[in-house]
Amino acid sequence: MKGLVIKNTGSWYQVKTDDGQSIECKIKGNFRLKGIRSTNPVAVGDRVQIILNQEGTAFISEIEDRKNYIVRRSSNLSKQSHILAANLDQCMLVVTINYPETSTIFIDRFLASAEAYRVPVKLVFNKVDAYDEDELRYLDALINLYTQIGYPCFKVSAKNGNGVEEIKKALESKITLFSGHSGVGKSTLINKLIGEDIIKTLSIRESDAKGRHTTTSREIFKVGNGFIIDTPGMRELQIWNGDTDTAFKDVEELALQCRFSDCTHTSEPGCAVIKAVESGEISQERLDNYFKLKKEIVNTQNKLLHGHKFMEKEKVKNMMGSLSARKKLSNK
Ligand code: GDP
Ligand code: ZN
Repeated sequence: MKGLVIKNTGSWYQVKTDDGQSIECKIKGNFRLKGIRSTNPVAVGDRVQIILNQEGTAFISEIEDRKNYIVRRSSNLSKQSHILAANLDQCMLVVTINYPETSTIFIDRFLASAEAYRVPVKLVFNKVDAYDEDELRYLDALINLYTQIGYPCFKVSAKNGNGVEEIKKALESKITLFSGHSGVGKSTLINKLIGEDIIKTLSIRESDAKGRHTTTSREIFKVGNGFIIDTPGMRELQIWNGDTDTAFKDVEELALQCRFSDCTHTSEPGCAVIKAVESGEISQERLDNYFKLKKEIVNTQNKLLHGHKFMEKEKVKNMMGSLSARKKLSNK
């Protein structure tokens, strides 16, 4: 039987089978996943094969290849990481122009890092009901910018429901990660999205590297025939900000040992990365992927930078200035 892992509590995994059953499973034997040392070999979002033994216990016997996954590195120096979710189809970053302000630096860093995980991002501008004229103009300028460089944008008010249907459509048949600063209205929006539908909230407790349950809970919700995964507030965003070094920690660590600090790992003498490829410690293919990824990140950042320069010309920056000045005034 095949299915989707929708919950993970300790060593138990809840699998929604393709014929609609919900089955609690354990893992069969020892899974060793290529390229990643993880505290949890199977994660929410994994497509798995399950088998039943004679006692009627279900076991996960196989994991299908992941198209992507996001990890949280454990704080200690062991190279273990915890897979937060696998096979994300997209990420929705919920932002607000104001109340609170989401900076474009924050958005851009998020976008660049999401590229590293190959997860498409859609931007959800919330609280449009609360914006004044200046803020609405700035909203449209930002939406223009991000749409032009390939990031679809939504204008919504989670409070009065405007625009929520469009988001619902964009969630169909997909696994979507929701992120955003706390206070931007993520919970309100998710509640609106779930609405009268089959409300199935599954609180997922995670284990940290030492196997303790941490207090952060991950929740996965079913909306139509899609799933949303909620990440609590800012803290979780640390998983995104590593750019290449999260995905290619091994290469980055080797690079620290290169003779030249600006080594490009192509032909320099004393290059630890080239040496590792020669000795077979890392494969040429992995190094090629690393180069490719670096290039993509630079391209994305350039695209964004270009967009912001354009915006600056349009004096949108000044508008931002007046926004924050006004905010300061109103805080007095
Ligand atoms: P979260 O921290 O991102 O989950 O944010 P919440 O959903 O808890 O919302 C934070 C605050 O913003 C609450 O007081 C909400 O009522 C308010 N809020 C959420 N969505 C909207 C909206 O669309 N418009 C307005 N005006 N307020 C909103
Ligand atoms: Zn090098």
